[in-house]
Amino acid sequence: MPYGPLTLITPTAAMKASVHGGRAKCLQRLVRLDMPVPLTVALSFDAVHQLALGNMPDMYALLAPFGNAPLLSVRPSSQDPDWGGPGAILNVGMNDDRYAELINYVGEAAATRVYLRFVQSYAIHVARLDPDEFHLPETFDAASLRGMMDAYEFETDALFPQDPKVQLAEVLRSMARAWDGTTARLLRQAKGAPADAGLGLVVQAMATGRNEGECGQGMIQFADSLTGTPRIVGRYVSAWHAESQDVRRDKDGALFITKDPRGLSLEEHCPEIFAQLLSYGDVCRQRLREEMEIKFTIQDGTLKILDAVRMQRSSRAAVRIAVALADDKIIPREEAVMRIEPAALSELLHRQVDPRAKRDLIVSGIAASPGAASGRIVLSAQEAQASAARGEPCILVRRETTPEDIRGMHAASAVLTMRGGVTSHAAVIGRGLGLPCVVGASDLSIDRKSGKIIAPNGRMYAAGDIITVDGTAGQALVGQPPMLEAALDGAFKTLLEWADEFRDIGVRANADTPADAQTARNFAAEGIGLCRTEHMFFEGDRLGVMREMIFAEDGDDRRAVLDRLLPMQREDFQALFEIMAGKTVCVRLFDPPLHEFLPSDKAGMRDLAEQVALPLNEVVERVAALEEYNPMLGMRGVRLGIAIPEIYDMQARAIFEAMAAVHKKGIDISVEIMIPLVSAMREVELVKGRVDAIANAVSAHSKIGFDYRLGVMVETPRAALRAEDIAGHAAFLSFGTNDLTQMTYGLSRDDAGRFMSSYVQQGVYAEDPFHTLDIEGVGELISLGAARGRKGRPDVVLSICGEHGGSRAAIDFCRKQKFDYVSCSPFRVPAARLTAAQLALAERV
Ligand code: PEP
Ligand code: MG
Repeated sequence: MPYGPLTLITPTAAMKASVHGGRAKCLQRLVRLDMPVPLTVALSFDAVHQLALGNMPDMYALLAPFGNAPLLSVRPSSQDPDWGGPGAILNVGMNDDRYAELINYVGEAAATRVYLRFVQSYAIHVARLDPDEFHLPETFDAASLRGMMDAYEFETDALFPQDPKVQLAEVLRSMARAWDGTTARLLRQAKGAPADAGLGLVVQAMATGRNEGECGQGMIQFADSLTGTPRIVGRYVSAWHAESQDVRRDKDGALFITKDPRGLSLEEHCPEIFAQLLSYGDVCRQRLREEMEIKFTIQDGTLKILDAVRMQRSSRAAVRIAVALADDKIIPREEAVMRIEPAALSELLHRQVDPRAKRDLIVSGIAASPGAASGRIVLSAQEAQASAARGEPCILVRRETTPEDIRGMHAASAVLTMRGGVTSHAAVIGRGLGLPCVVGASDLSIDRKSGKIIAPNGRMYAAGDIITVDGTAGQALVGQPPMLEAALDGAFKTLLEWADEFRDIGVRANADTPADAQTARNFAAEGIGLCRTEHMFFEGDRLGVMREMIFAEDGDDRRAVLDRLLPMQREDFQALFEIMAGKTVCVRLFDPPLHEFLPSDKAGMRDLAEQVALPLNEVVERVAALEEYNPMLGMRGVRLGIAIPEIYDMQARAIFEAMAAVHKKGIDISVEIMIPLVSAMREVELVKGRVDAIANAVSAHSKIGFDYRLGVMVETPRAALRAEDIAGHAAFLSFGTNDLTQMTYGLSRDDAGRFMSSYVQQGVYAEDPFHTLDIEGVGELISLGAARGRKGRPDVVLSICGEHGGSRAAIDFCRKQKFDYVSCSPFRVPAARLTAAQLALAERV
């Protein structure tokens, strides 16, 4: 084996991050860059694994390079620094003899502080004693040291070990074992570490100054952790020398790093060392190709570099740093694109609860739409609208939302529901609107009588109380914690423009309203892949007209009512087309069961009776007659289009008239019309015949030729199976994976939330299939549908537009199937663009 268990870090030593860990490898790089790194020995993953099993390395060989009576630090070195590891232990080797020696140089207080700190960390982390028994005392003198030693002896029945070999062996063993603990394992696996990830350790010499010049330790970094902007940040604790000076500093003796009117800084106190640090920082950035945090000490006026690690950073800072490194030609653009985790972008698109804020949890649920918002509790859509009218932000809390709640959702700052999963109504609309949303908070209850919500621990919150919904974490919180604002800065836009250069699949947005479309445009979606038109009928006074239409006696009456809806729909489409000028908009014809537009309570029925001038009992009967046992499998989608063709006729006319209107304004728009819930070719034939006829009529009237395509939403298994026939009449097939998942599994997308977590916990499903596209089952149906569709029409345009559209798994799948585009909620467009680029780049290597 080329790598031994113990390796002295020299420029030429055989070392590898996958054998010794990232920290050890980075230290070797610093040594190669001629930085003054103290003597360091690296223990390989294998050596540490053996340690955990009780097989100690050769301690004489380990200690030999450090000479007589060394003081040592031990630090973890996992392969990826983000996977963590046990905390560092410093001053190993400190004992009574060293203490006596140190007092001569630095005085009793400073020497005692060093010894006490070592005993404290040894007692807690190595001997695993109760931390409450080992607080640092107020004063540092021989008596306080004796006190801590007594506590150690009392708890262990043994004297504090004095032999550096024994100390070091125990420190190494405890760190090796800590890595194998369950919590540590789970934490690193959550960060992507494999189950068998190894830990390396580095043992480094810690010289103590002789008080012959400046002594101290510190850290420095060259960019702001929160924003990523260039800025020198750090702290420097001037150990003993500075204690004698009359300078302002905090209780640890920390100086400012750069010149500061509030007190002494390292920059003024040690200008040469400060300049050296800046140049090392620059070398690190250029040669390690990263913004690093450098740990250093100054011993008797001489700088030592102890360590350099990738600087901790927020998602926003990560983007800015990656773009700056590429702009400075330190890394290629491809690498900048690869360095950013797509999921992290959502933090930049929305306000977030400040990660440093304290959280008082009301209830946890499913994180259905990211971002955070605070507001007063309201329990109905009407109250939400009233609250918005008063200019008071509110949080809509509902058992679940229904299409009737849409106006309330528009008015609310966030939504919290007790039922539903990631594709429930609240979740889909929340994501579409960019509204923070937590669904499926099943431990919460609502007492409508008293107007209160009751948390699982019994605490109650009344309507009007302020709460916060954190849709990123899936939590509802008491009160109004501090927030971080969204950050769509130049670096964000630049990174995504670079991503667009590399990706090879289109990204469109699912957008229903002009506001959605504007968001889609802001995020550079290439078009709208799904415009769900039914939401337009819940707006303003349209719901009333819609209800009249449902109650119409015959086709003529229905047409007369629809004629009133026509101009409204035309305006909707015109607004959408104007915003999306130059792009493609795919309009889906009406999809939901009509019953969703009818009131469900007595008061609503009474209003309706007045509106349609019918006796209440007749209204109640007609509403009941429209009820279905299985509405999701009933009279909806194209079935309505066939049974009540006037609705689709009106929509088609509105689309073509809107096209004619924008054409007159000189706006270029490409329009697609999509038929939902198709299961048979004949359905497409029938609808296509009528739509084409209306196009011809509007074209003849307006004297404008239309460029439009008609396509099919493949969301029933039968449509996938019969895709060859269907494609004969469809220019495009867009897979609606929400309904397709529902129907492939026979699993209601609105009810699955009730048992999904127990299914996933027991491994029945690896993941919630409404959340992560089921490649094995639903995916097979999609591949089969795509292949058959291509057989029927070789140039058929293929895409997916279900909620899965923005996920990595779905984008990966669609690229492999050579689909033309994916379509997802507007707020997921940036992450989808980045993911698509990363997948394309990953294939290049
Ligand atoms: C689908 O079923 O995947 C889809 C996009 O349509 P909806 O969610 O409106 O049913
Ligand atoms: Mg559908």
